[in-house]
Amino acid sequence: PSELPIGYCRAAEKLGTVLLPHTPAEGFEIGAHGVEGVRTRRGTIATRVVVDAAGAWARLIALGLGGSLPVVPTRHQLLITEPIAGVTPEFPIARVIDANVYVRHERGGLMLGGYEPDPMQIDPAALRPGFDVAELPLDIEVLWRLARSVSEQFPIFQDPAIRVAEHRGGLPTMTVDDRYLAGPLPGVAGAWVMSGCCVGGLSVSPALGEAMAEWILDGAPGLDLSEISTARFAGYQLDETELRERCRHAYATHYRAGGEAPASDAVR
Ligand SMILES: Cc1cc2nc3c(=O)[nH]c(=O)nc-3n(C[C@H](O)[C@H](O)[C@H](O)COP(=O)(O)OP(=O)(O)OC[C@H]3O[C@@H](n4cnc5c(N)ncnc54)[C@H](O)[C@@H]3O)c2cc1C
Repeated sequence: PSELPIGYCRAAEKLGTVLLPHTPAEGFEIGAHGVEGVRTRRGTIATRVVVDAAGAWARLIALGLGGSLPVVPTRHQLLITEPIAGVTPEFPIARVIDANVYVRHERGGLMLGGYEPDPMQIDPAALRPGFDVAELPLDIEVLWRLARSVSEQFPIFQDPAIRVAEHRGGLPTMTVDDRYLAGPLPGVAGAWVMSGCCVGGLSVSPALGEAMAEWILDGAPGLDLSEISTARFAGYQLDETELRERCRHAYATHYRAGGEAPASDAVR
């Protein structure tokens, strides 16, 4: 998955974009008409447009811009087994909806991941400056519990001979209605948001990136983004405990979220 953003970076450079790796946005210049610049340790970048796509840190960035984002970074993990005889790329991707578990072929073995009922939620303000997601503590027992919950469908995971080749995790951001969060940051002219990936940010990134570029440059996206727009949370305030609980629920019911109430009802 890490190759995808690197691919975007190389493509952007070809179009003349200047990339500043390892240069965090440390603050913002906000004037009477909105965003005027981004402060970094290498100087201030004068700009009237900022897109907050800071993943687990998106809420902190929004705060720095003078807005608020109702998202909670939530640990998500998966494991990949050593190759298993007979497991081939033709295997379908399986989702056991009731158990919130997915299984698919990966490198000759099986990948298993899922959405546990009590995920670890992170307060990004409590992370040390420079924290790398690779430092996130992982807990493989969460995955074995999920594996046991699908032992009827996938008895292979109960085989003591099974070996884990890779165990990884990260910090996707959840919203209360399990939908992406994209659009203008309410109340801060020139500030835009691409957040609330809800563990599905990679797959939509090309389409969402294009639609956001149209929205920023042309005044409207080519796609109807109203269901995932930041506007659905404008003016609503959630107590932190309630926000966490609703985001936990959204994560724990990820595969059933299609029937959830629209966010505005959920927040109200
Ligand atoms: C185990 C696992 C499996 C997943 N599987 C899938 C899948 O199958 N399909 C799918 O679509 N999605 C999947 N996802 C989700 C996907 O990884 C995320 O949706 C995606 O990475 C979100 O991208 P992002 O750019 O919004 O955030 P991130 O990838 O978190 O990037 C945010 C970036 O912002 C940077 N940043 C933070 N603060 C600042 C600052 N102050 N200044 C400048 N930069 C800053 C960070 O360093 C980081 O590079 C999975 C996630 C996990 C953890």
